[in-house]
Formats: sequence, C-alpha cells, structure tokens
Amino acid sequence: MSERKFKVVIVGAGMAGLFMAEKLKRAGIDFAVYEKSHEVGGTWRDNTYPGLYVDVLSRQYEFPFRRNYDWSRKYAPGAEIQAYIKRVADERGLRRFIRFKQEIVSARFAGDRWHLATRKGETVMADVFVAATGFLHQPLYPEIPGRDSFTGASFHSAGWDHTVPYKGRRWGVIGGGASGIQITEALAWEDCDVTQFIRRAQWVHIRDNPQATLWERLLLRLPLMCRRRQRQLWKMIITGDQWRIKPGPARAAMEREYRGYLEAIHDPELRRKLTPDYHLGCTRIPKSDRNYYEAVQKPNVHLEFGRIARIVSDGVEMADGIKHRLDVLVYATGFDPHAYMRPMRVTGLNGVTLDELWKKRVFSYGGVALPGFPNLFMLYGPFSPVNNVPVPIGLDHEIGYIMRLIERVRREHVTIAPTAAATERFVARLDDAFPDTVFVGCRNWYSDQTGTPILWPLRQDAHEAFFANVAWGDLEVNPVPVHGGDRKIEPA
Ligand SMILES: Cc1cc2nc3c(=O)[nH]c(=O)nc-3n(C[C@H](O)[C@H](O)[C@H](O)COP(=O)(O)OP(=O)(O)OC[C@H]3O[C@@H](n4cnc5c(N)ncnc54)[C@H](O)[C@@H]3O)c2cc1C
Repeated sequence: MSERKFKVVIVGAGMAGLFMAEKLKRAGIDFAVYEKSHEVGGTWRDNTYPGLYVDVLSRQYEFPFRRNYDWSRKYAPGAEIQAYIKRVADERGLRRFIRFKQEIVSARFAGDRWHLATRKGETVMADVFVAATGFLHQPLYPEIPGRDSFTGASFHSAGWDHTVPYKGRRWGVIGGGASGIQITEALAWEDCDVTQFIRRAQWVHIRDNPQATLWERLLLRLPLMCRRRQRQLWKMIITGDQWRIKPGPARAAMEREYRGYLEAIHDPELRRKLTPDYHLGCTRIPKSDRNYYEAVQKPNVHLEFGRIARIVSDGVEMADGIKHRLDVLVYATGFDPHAYMRPMRVTGLNGVTLDELWKKRVFSYGGVALPGFPNLFMLYGPFSPVNNVPVPIGLDHEIGYIMRLIERVRREHVTIAPTAAATERFVARLDDAFPDTVFVGCRNWYSDQTGTPILWPLRQDAHEAFFANVAWGDLEVNPVPVHGGDRKIEPA
C-alpha cells in the first residue's frame, strides 16, 4: 500500500456520497465516486412525484458545510432539495471526481485492498471502500397478480412519468404510506379522479408549510443568528422527539394531537377507517402539507381499503369483486430498506459474502462498519437513525468518525474493521433499547425478518456521542496485507 497512491472509492453520489466526497477533497485524500445514474442527488433525483416535500425542516436538511438561506418554504419541495444538492456538487467542484453511469456490481477484499467491478467490466482498486448507496433506493413492487397486464401508464413513485397529463385520467395510487399520501393529496387538489388503495391506515402529520418571508431569509444570513439557529434546531431535535424513545406523558399527548387531526373527517365511518389500530410512531409518519384529510373528502377522491385481488388490463379488481377502472397506476409501494448496497455482491475476508453475513439478520457496528469487512465503511447502514435524526446531521456524525478511521488507515498502512465481539455488544445494546420505543408493536418497513427494527432506538445525542470518540478497543487494526487465516466471521 505504501508504494502506490492511497485511494478511496465512494459508491453513490446521493447526499451521503457527496458529503463524504467533500470531506475527502478537503483532507487532500485521493478518491473517486462511482454513480450508476447520470446525475447526483440519489433519492431527490429519482423521486420527482407531485406533492413531495422534505419531512424535516428545510434548515435541518442541509449539508453543514453549505448552509442554504433561500429555502422557499419551511419544508422545501423535493425539486428544491435536488436543485440545492446539484448546486453544492457544482460549487464544490465535486463532479470532476464522479464517474457517472458506472454501476459497481461487485466488491471483493483481496490482499490488502478492495477490488470493485463495474457493470462495464472495469476493475477499480481501492484502499478504502465507502458504500453510500442509500437505504431507500431499491423500489419495491407489490406481489399482486397481473401487474404486466395493465395497458395504461404505470410507474413506481420513484420513477414518475411526467409525460402523463394529470387531467382527464383516472388515477390509481397503490400505497398508503408517505409517498402514497403525498401523491394522492397532490392529485386531489389538481382535481384529478384518484383512487388510493390503502392496506392500513397511517397516522398523518397535518402540518403548516408556509413560505419563508424575505425577513426570515435575511436574518439567517447573519452569522451569529445562523449559528444560534442551528444550535436551537439541534436542541429542538433532542428534546422534542424523546416521546419516540421513552414512554411517558409526551407520548400520549402526541397521540392526542394526531387524533385531533382526524377530527377534520366528517364521515365517522371514513374517520374510523383512517384511524390506525397501532400506536403513533410505529411506522414512519407521513407528512401532509396540503391537508390530506380535507383532500380525501373531495368528490374526485376515492379511498379503497380492501385487498386487491389482481391487476387487469384496464384497472384493479378487489377481493370482493369490485372493479376500479383506471388509466394510470402508480406504485407508491416503497423500497427494500434492507438491501443497502445489494444487489452488489460484496465479499470480505475468508470469502464471506454480505448475503452470508446478513443471512439471519441485517446488522452492523454503529451503522457504519462490519466485522470481517476491513476498510469498508457504510453511510447510513443498518441501525442508522433513519427516523429520529435528520439525515444530514446523522451523516455528519458518521462521516466525522469514518474520516478519523481513514486517516489512520492512510497514515499507518493498516486495515480497520470492528471486532465480532464489539459488533455483538453494539447490537445487544440496541436490541435492549427497542422495547421502550415506539418502533415496535406493529408491522413497519424498519423491521427485519426477525421483527427487529433496524434503526437507532436511543436518544439523538447518543448517536452524536457514539461517534464523537473512536472506541479503538472495538476495532481490529491490522497491518496490511491481511490474511484471513482460519478466522471465520459468524453472522450475528
Ligand atoms: C421519497 C423519499 C422521501 C424522503 N424524504 C426524506 C425526508 O424528508 N427527510 C429525510 O431525512 N430523509 C428522507 N428520505 C430518505 C433519503 O433517502 C435520505 O434523506 C437521503 O437522501 C439518502 O441519501 P443517500 O446518499 O444515503 O442515498 P441515496 O439518495 O439513495 O443515494 C444513493 C446513490 O447511490 C447510487 N448507487 C446505489 N447503488 C449503486 C451501485 N451499485 N453503483 C453505483 N451507484 C450506486 C444511487 O444511484 C444513488 O444515486 C426520503 C427518501 C425517499 C425515498
């Protein structure tokens, strides 16, 4: 490793990959980013559906190294987030490091480094491999018979077809989660005929989303005000969200607030159907910026709670025999949240693959590393705070930590991976915390095949604290080259 130039390869040019790229660039470390698409932005590039707004405050959804004073709203529309990410890539000169339309299909640790293979057949060597491949990236489709027989336009919410006119079409939206709610609400206010197919009611946050005033934008430009505002926001996150972590009166008060939103529904039967039968927070809470509950009471909106039996050429047939004729079918059916960097085939020491490691359950050390996979660092991997810390803030914690590990790898010519014992301790610590949280007790996309939610069940400041200092005792630091020997890494 000492003979050649040290190199980091980042896979993915979404928010995480760009954040990492900026840090490496500033540290003067050689790196390249491989991105399978033609553009940066990941989530915000792919999801362009009507009604998409960021679910945390716009001010919380910023790279800490590039504040934005020009958000148009309290919660910015998706397109504005994407424009901001593109602007950051341009301003920071990050595009020159990115190889677009280059998908990494496999990664193998051999000798002292990672060998990454692109779909085009190129092999790329890396001393450190950073997987910034996203956690909501692989679209999921429902297993409903007849999907291919539909003759109208149909697409996933992550691949909106903007050539389809809104008006004069009968729209079907399959899915009652965050995307399904935002899409139905947007189509409803466009006066489209829209039927939303809902398997299970969700708690919906009906929120105000006012435009930012010129005065607010100007105030934020004052450095002192800006710093104070950021500190306030972080405090707000830490103190305002504890109801998710520990039971107490705050949890009951939150649920009362959400029940209150449902009062906007006049028909008691519809209100009953839209009232969840599980506690608030167990699923990710969809946000409504234009009052979903008012929208669904419009005459052009129909809600269907039954089971879809099959999709046919001109619509959807329900299990009770009712048929809905449709011209457009939108799959707002979410993503495979436990794919992480897969379908890429990732092989660590002793030929152990990621699929083998995660056979019983998906896990990690800190959300960022895996035993037996030296110098592989994930951004927002398993157990990252996908629900209770705004992603850029969580990334800031993770990337600060990873940078310290990379510095040591470079300086001392070593490989670093968490020990199996430390990983087990980490997983056990989180497992112990789950029973107190709101994340258990219902079916949700966080949970794995064992029913354990794969997210951060502790306070938000505990996330910051975990990454503030490197617990070197948890890590196996080996001089290169690494020989796997007969050490076998067992799945947790
Ligand atoms: C509809 C939607 C709304 C969301 N809203 C919010 C929100 O309001 N607030 C919030 O905090 N979070 C939200 N999220 C979560 C969001 O995914 C994260 O906030 C953040 O954008 C994730 O960034 P990322 O870079 O980790 O992943 P992504 O944005 O998914 O980027 C991953 C990148 O990696 C590339 N890639 C993947 N595999 C490969 C490969 N093998 N080879 C090459 N390139 C590859 C992809 O093409 C993509 O560009 C939302 C997610 C979705 C889907």
